[in-house]
Amino acid sequence: MVKISVPDDVEKIIEILEQNGFEAYIVGGCVRDSLMGRLPKDWDITTSASPQEVKQCFRRTIDTGIAHGTVTVMMGQTGYEVTTYRLDGEYTDSRHPSSVTFTRALSEDLKRRDFTINAMAYNEAAGLADLFGGMEDLENGLIRAVGDPAERFSEDALRIMRAVRFSAQLDFTIEENTLEAAATLSSNLEKISKERIREELVKTLESAHPERTVLFEDIGAMPWIFPAFGRRRQERLKKLSEMPPDRLLRLAAFLEGCTKEEAEVVLRELKFDNDTLKRTAALIEYGAKEISPDETAVRKLLSSFGTEDIERLLLFSGHEELEPVVKRILKRGDCISLKTLALGGRELGELGLKPGKIMGEILKALLERVLEDPGLNSEEKLIPIARELIKKTEERK
Ligand code: ATP
Ligand code: MG
Repeated sequence: MVKISVPDDVEKIIEILEQNGFEAYIVGGCVRDSLMGRLPKDWDITTSASPQEVKQCFRRTIDTGIAHGTVTVMMGQTGYEVTTYRLDGEYTDSRHPSSVTFTRALSEDLKRRDFTINAMAYNEAAGLADLFGGMEDLENGLIRAVGDPAERFSEDALRIMRAVRFSAQLDFTIEENTLEAAATLSSNLEKISKERIREELVKTLESAHPERTVLFEDIGAMPWIFPAFGRRRQERLKKLSEMPPDRLLRLAAFLEGCTKEEAEVVLRELKFDNDTLKRTAALIEYGAKEISPDETAVRKLLSSFGTEDIERLLLFSGHEELEPVVKRILKRGDCISLKTLALGGRELGELGLKPGKIMGEILKALLERVLEDPGLNSEEKLIPIARELIKKTEERK
């Protein structure tokens, strides 16, 4: 018989529910991961008890999603989600069930789940509840829809994204009929929110097999993710397999070959936050530039690209050999921005300049000189240069 070792807190929650006359199991991702010998991220519990009944069994609970039957049970500092067995009502929009009905039958709850490997439950007394051959699919590395795949993808098109995501995370194959239904119904992704599409895309990109994003293309899902993916498919896949599992690097690799503007459009369309958008687009923009290995060029690069993602940029552009140069410059503390330039607005003011556009230009020109020769970064050396620059601009007028 299958045995899963469950954390004490989780065992305790199941025990208490059982003592009160209810059924309770761990379910879904944690069962799948445990059976694969992976450590689950979180432990979800499913129970025959209604949300009100769950609340009566425990001292400290939080109403997390009462409408969907989820109550968080607090054990010490940790919360565990306990969800009442439920069946989803009819799906009328490929997105949301129109209603949720609680049930006392575990089988009904397992039936509504997406894939066989995600539709198993377990507890110590009953062992593994595996009604759809999840264990066998786990052993064979298969993502298979529970029930009729076309029906399940019509109910909720996000499951199409999830099939690819799990395939990438677990290195599993999507079972033939499931894949075929995914391909037939991929245009239903039109109805799925961009945020949810984004989340599944990111999980796929961050996974052990980011190159599986090609499955999105194969099943015709790219129009809702990144329409121009196919333009440089081979390059993108190669780049993806070369990058470590870092969100920004994998995103940049996914979009590689785009212009900065094209990348921004895709990321904005998928509702990425501004920080991700800017940093990914910068990686793409700078990744396409030549970087020469001399210190001056690297200082200029640091000055305009910034230091935050410089290691990522070196990886992305295949210029890891520049890492020692970057380290040396940063360690020495060479001036690479106006913040550490020995002359500022105040000193230029003392030379008779008023704050404004010209002052800004002169500061930039001084920084440029210092980037070329860090030895110039002292007041005494910069003042004569500043004087000359001021004189020149006055002559131009
Ligand atoms: P992860 O390790 O990424 O959290 P997971 O399997 O726990 O993977 P969740 O999104 O946390 O995935 O969902 C928990 C469980 O709920 C799944 O294992 C599955 O049984 C069920 N589930 C989640 N989303 C859907 C869906 N769109 N359709 C059907 N069942 C779903
Ligand atoms: Mg989960």
